[in-house]
Amino acid sequence: MANGCCSNDTNETLIFTCAGAAHSGQVSNRAGIGLAQEGVGNLFCVAAMGAEIPDKMDRARNAGKRVVIDGCEDHCARKIMEKASLPVEVHVDVTNLGIEKKPEKPQLINDAKRVMEEIRTLLSAAS
Ligand code: SF4
Repeated sequence: MANGCCSNDTNETLIFTCAGAAHSGQVSNRAGIGLAQEGVGNLFCVAAMGAEIPDKMDRARNAGKRVVIDGCEDHCARKIMEKASLPVEVHVDVTNLGIEKKPEKPQLINDAKRVMEEIRTLLSAAS
């Protein structure tokens, strides 16, 4: 698996998270961190796609798979990818897993584990 800012590994899986301020946005990012720690893929910067940073755009374009995790139905991360004309092979809106945007008692780690499980399942179905 490739690391570093400028790899062009076509087998690479890149993980983009909306990392929104709401609990569900933070769940998206925690899930992305957890998946990267497991070696499922490399966490990558969706903000760099919005800012059109050339070397990062190249790496995202050349990746084998792009996983996008959004924290709510606004789908900010997926829309950034669309605007950058980048395909998305796996997309998860964490609220579709029953995770509330602003719960009374946030369970960051447990919720992130549910998202990670969903992504693992979708990735194995997509391979
Ligand atoms: S998708 Fe929802 S949680 Fe994520 S950044 Fe957008 S508004 Fe915030």
